[in-house]
Amino acid sequence: MNVGVVAVQGDFEKHLNSLRATGREGLNLTEVRTPEELASVERVILPGGESTTVGLLMQRFGLGDALRQAASEGMPVWGTCMGMILMAKEIEGRPDQYSLGILDVTVRRNAFGAQVHSFEDEVSVKSLKDGSEDFASMGVFIRAPIVTRLGEGVEAISHYEEKVVAVRQGRLLGTSFHPELTEDVRFHEAFLDL
Ligand code: GLN
Repeated sequence: MNVGVVAVQGDFEKHLNSLRATGREGLNLTEVRTPEELASVERVILPGGESTTVGLLMQRFGLGDALRQAASEGMPVWGTCMGMILMAKEIEGRPDQYSLGILDVTVRRNAFGAQVHSFEDEVSVKSLKDGSEDFASMGVFIRAPIVTRLGEGVEAISHYEEKVVAVRQGRLLGTSFHPELTEDVRFHEAFLDL
């Protein structure tokens, strides 16, 4: 299976490590910076980072258009934190900010406020696979966004203090927190099975 991680900026190395740590056989990992690299993978992760910078660079390299096209053709995409912001249809209060618009949600950036830049706490996550159990995972939140509107066909799969912090829309996944910064690879496994 060919899996890519968008490697323009941010914590893409951590995702590559977590994918390796799943121990899946036949996993072929690619750092994706260009439309050509994207064309060589079957699913892709958008990591955490700075959404304004990465959005501008993806737009400039043509990677944004290529990703939008791939997602519309059914490619599984998972965005963590910045990645989810970039996938969103709408960014609260920032109509000018570039995003792919593939995930029918509205996100609020830096939603936990200036005082709480980062924190860790347990989050419970709805199972991503029929017949498997919901699970608890450590949520690492770093200037994290939340989801404030869910479009049709979008399911909230995790809440934290009544805020939506993970969503699924078919083969698209978004999380406010960073499973790649923990030892827990169940999210990465679930993404590979999506
Ligand atoms: N606050 C960042 C942004 O809006 C996201 C932070 C992250 O990815 N850890 O781009």
